[in-house]
Amino acid sequence: MSQTLQFVRHNAFLSPDSASAKLYEEASRFIPGGSSRVHYHFQPNPLYAKSASGCYLTDAEGVERLDFLNNMTALIHGHVNPAVKQALIDQIERGTAFSEPAEEEISLARLMSERVSTVEQIRFGNSGTESVMLAIKLARAHTGRSMIAKFEGFYHGYYDYAQISNGLPGLDLGDEHAPTSVAGTGGLSDSVSGDVLVLPFNNRPVVERLLEENHQSISALILDPLSNKAGFVRPVEGFLQFLREITSEYGIVLIFDEVISFRISHGGGQGAYGGEPDLTVFGKIIGGGLPVGAVGGRRDIMALLDPSLGNPVVASGGTFSANPLTMVAGYAALEQMTPAEYDRIGRLGRKLRDEGNSIIAAAGAKGQITGDGSLFRILFTDEPIANYRSSMQQSAVSDLIAKLHINLLDEGVIISKTLLGCLSTPMGEQEVGFFLSALERSLHRALGS
Ligand code: PMP
Repeated sequence: MSQTLQFVRHNAFLSPDSASAKLYEEASRFIPGGSSRVHYHFQPNPLYAKSASGCYLTDAEGVERLDFLNNMTALIHGHVNPAVKQALIDQIERGTAFSEPAEEEISLARLMSERVSTVEQIRFGNSGTESVMLAIKLARAHTGRSMIAKFEGFYHGYYDYAQISNGLPGLDLGDEHAPTSVAGTGGLSDSVSGDVLVLPFNNRPVVERLLEENHQSISALILDPLSNKAGFVRPVEGFLQFLREITSEYGIVLIFDEVISFRISHGGGQGAYGGEPDLTVFGKIIGGGLPVGAVGGRRDIMALLDPSLGNPVVASGGTFSANPLTMVAGYAALEQMTPAEYDRIGRLGRKLRDEGNSIIAAAGAKGQITGDGSLFRILFTDEPIANYRSSMQQSAVSDLIAKLHINLLDEGVIISKTLLGCLSTPMGEQEVGFFLSALERSLHRALGS
């Protein structure tokens, strides 16, 4: 398939005697639900990966597909990028992790700071979740306040406070002008929801009122400039600038979560849409495929982590933080991401979204493909997406979503079960064309047309 992009329809992994089914059965004996990650869980069993190269992934049955998911968007170069691989091999020869700092950390820190103008200093960690946690603690220590504000339905990983109104289906959302602060998981302390003010995205008057009422208690406002959970909603003209102004006025730390959105341009979501955050959280692509997280931003706030003058104000840890393997992989990945390369895959992304939208319309389905740059998401609602509520899909389409996901796998295309996808740099027009034909056939089969 790699040469010709011919694909033999084959969802053999769904058969009860498939290698994936057997692996899943064995996994379920030792791991709850058979997996340490919930996002790839679907019935009757997930597809197990055996190997991958470039934009292709081979499953446990030996079936090759085009990977439009790339470890949940983390792999911007697809799999086994030659420069990332070489950097990793060279680093393994030198040692995988030390107690001591190593030069590789400085190279990635410098690159991030040069690329993102709001990042004066940066601290690396091991996941987006961990770095969101650290950013929130920095904001609390900087302001002396304990509440945070976040936007309804936005996902920021699984630190306690980020799990309030996090887009989990079935939550009681309350009044749209005063969204309920509701736990999106079990296991939180009762006090957590009371410490989180939930705001409706793109709704300036409500944000203004709620921040005015609560600003004395609020340390941070965290947002994702392009939230996947809220349907890749784009900030309306001037909204991020308004957030910058109002948070400055109230002394609230503005945090951008760019764990996903750093994919959309050389300078990330803030490079594309503006907004000038005080702190930015990174993850996914900046690790070149290895576990990573980072918080970067204003020097005076980052100084709260500084151990050189005694105990830092904000204590942190992380045995594997800034490990040299992640640092060299991230550097090798980002170094190849020139503005021209962002433009190229961004143009491919636009083609996929535009032509995909025509396919959905021609099939008579009420849906759309949202996203920006190399990111996309198929949504079965024709409402204009302004915030989480308008991105919500009726429960009646959940069957269509599940069928489309499985049909795309059958046509040789991997995207997530929530129909999130992304391009990788080994892809070109041919792969986008393959995706679009697969989408057309998969959608017709799912609609029974
Ligand atoms: N923030 C956003 C916007 C994310 O998409 C994610 C993960 N999908 C996270 C935070 C958490 O990152 P991690 O999975 O590395 O903990």
